[in-house]
Order: sequence, then C-alpha cells, then structure tokens
Amino acid sequence: MYQNVIEKQKRRFKKKAVISQSECVACGSCVNVCPRGAITIIHGIYAKVNDDLCIGCGKCKIACPASIIKVEVRDNEEK
Ligand code: SF4
Ligand code: SF4
Repeated sequence: MYQNVIEKQKRRFKKKAVISQSECVACGSCVNVCPRGAITIIHGIYAKVNDDLCIGCGKCKIACPASIIKVEVRDNEEK
C-alpha cells in the first residue's frame, strides 16, 4: 500500500535532486530549505537525497553555496 503511494508520487513528480556528494561540504543549507525533509547529512560528511520524498522543487539547488545540486528528470519514467 505504502509502496503504491510512493510510486504515485514518483509519477506525479517527474524530477528529483541529485547531489555531487564528492564535492559536498555538508553545510546543511539544502537540508534547511527542503520542504519535504528529503535531504540528510550522512556522517557529517555529505548530503544525501531520499528519492522517495523529493518532489524536484529545486529549492536545494538554489540554496547550495557550492552549486553542486542538479534537478534531473527521473530515470525509467515518462517524460
Ligand atoms: S528538489 Fe526540493 S524536495 Fe527535492 S531535495 Fe531539493 S528541496 Fe527537497
Ligand atoms: S547545500 Fe550543497 S554543499 Fe551544503 S550540504 Fe547541501 S549539497 Fe552539500
């Protein structure tokens, strides 16, 4: 059931954020602006996006001081 909800969300939101983790300085700016709580700082080293929660709004991309976030069309979905 819950999985079905997630799949519906993915179909509805065609895009998702992708972070270049090797360049991330773990500043947390993206975490603070994400309306879905989709970003987590892992081990204080880099930021990671939860694809199931991301709606592709792009707020994190705007907030990132290092400009290392892209918003891309999800794979394996209708465009
Ligand atoms: S694109 Fe929007 S929902 Fe997705 S991680 Fe960035 S701020 Fe959160
Ligand atoms: S805003 Fe950019 S540099 Fe800062 S934690 Fe997020 S992805 Fe990393």
